[in-house]
Amino acid sequence: MADIIRAAPPVMNNLSYVQPTASSPWGTYLAQVDRVGPYMGSLARWVETLRRPKRALIVDVPIELDNGEIVHFEGYRVQHNLSRGPGKGGVRYHPAVTLEEVMALSAWMTVKNAAVNLPYGGAKGGIRVDPAKLSLKELERVTRRYTSEIGGIIGPQQDIPAPDVNTNAQVMAWMMDTYSMNTGTTATGVVTGKPIHLGGSLGRVKATGRGVFVTGAEAMRRLNIPMAGARIAVQGYGNVGSNAALLFAVAGAKIVAVQDHTGTVYNAAGLDAPRLAAHVVHTGGVGGFSGGEGIPPESFWDAETDVLIPAALEGQITAPRAERLRARLVLEAANGPTVPEADDILAARGITVLPDVICNAGGVIVSYFEWVQDFSSYFWTEEEINQRLDKIIVDALAHIWHTAQQHGIPLRTGAFTVACGRILMARQERGLYP
Ligand code: NAD
Repeated sequence: MADIIRAAPPVMNNLSYVQPTASSPWGTYLAQVDRVGPYMGSLARWVETLRRPKRALIVDVPIELDNGEIVHFEGYRVQHNLSRGPGKGGVRYHPAVTLEEVMALSAWMTVKNAAVNLPYGGAKGGIRVDPAKLSLKELERVTRRYTSEIGGIIGPQQDIPAPDVNTNAQVMAWMMDTYSMNTGTTATGVVTGKPIHLGGSLGRVKATGRGVFVTGAEAMRRLNIPMAGARIAVQGYGNVGSNAALLFAVAGAKIVAVQDHTGTVYNAAGLDAPRLAAHVVHTGGVGGFSGGEGIPPESFWDAETDVLIPAALEGQITAPRAERLRARLVLEAANGPTVPEADDILAARGITVLPDVICNAGGVIVSYFEWVQDFSSYFWTEEEINQRLDKIIVDALAHIWHTAQQHGIPLRTGAFTVACGRILMARQERGLYP
């Protein structure tokens, strides 16, 4: 295994508009793709397709602030690959968003959708903005202008955005309304993660956290880690992190450490997950939570745990942190939290990493259900949705686990092997146009 990794070609590619490094998001993605080449057989001749986004749009998003000032933000929509279906992927509002990051996130969506066999390609969007500094009306103006600017390349059969970091059902409602006004339709299927009365799906808000719990519990079972009393650390207590933590706590595990942008809290006896979630809703973060002890941010990575759940941003598990981690299993709830060098260190230390492309796929699976329900205008119960979600994600995990074991490779390379095989087969069957 180590020989294959060392023999992999360099991560750089010759796109003129990005300069990836070994640990930047696009560099991380390229290194991950490099590792599947040996398992692609005759499809390997198509692998370069995965190293190039099909389309990347950069838009100017000017708005008038409430005080009359005009400000400009930079927005992106990247469609990485559309071989297997329309683009699908979230929209992120964050002051550090870059084209390179959105490219990587769109590529991970291509792989994720194929890993769980949804009929989608991969896309992602973002605006370089700090939404905490905008009023609700300003946020609406940003969202509507961005939606209009990318309106030519999105659509229910073209590319379907969804929530990601700092975006939610309200933002999706504005996107749906703007697209509908511009096209003279009521296009509920243009976005997923909408409010329920606008064609949203039951279970969507909690779906990613649920998928993290369901795949995590399955991985723990396979690794003989008992759920009762399992010590869990969670970085990021937003939508995904908090919903996953609540389900683990209900199942009998202990949430011993949490970290977000406001602080780090530790309690060896276990934090009260529902109380912590309420504290976050009231105060905007975990910092200052009275049910545990505040510790320095870097100490989070030294906490003695059984399971670590990164549920914040990319690139958090660096090589030095991977050397220090005291966990048996990493559940990648965030997209791209582990840099390639750290992946190798964790593998060498016998720490299993359940990769993002399967671990956090619950959200896009229920987004797919939402899209299907919108097309048929017939809505399912939450019970039906959860049952179907659990089946798809557990079956996909079993397939990936088996593939990894068969080749003696880490789960990430196993997941990429399954997914890239499907994507490149579709590409080959379609052939090159013209
Ligand atoms: P969110 O905005 O609800 O929460 C983000 C969390 O990250 C917050 O708790 C925030 O405090 C924390 N955070 C931000 N910067 C941080 C920092 N520097 N250090 C520590 N914590 C920090 O977002 P979310 O929807 O929960 O998404 C979290 C991750 O899950 C992202 O990587 C996202 O791409 C991924 N994801 C989300 C979904 C979904 O359905 N929402 C689906 C798949 C993957």
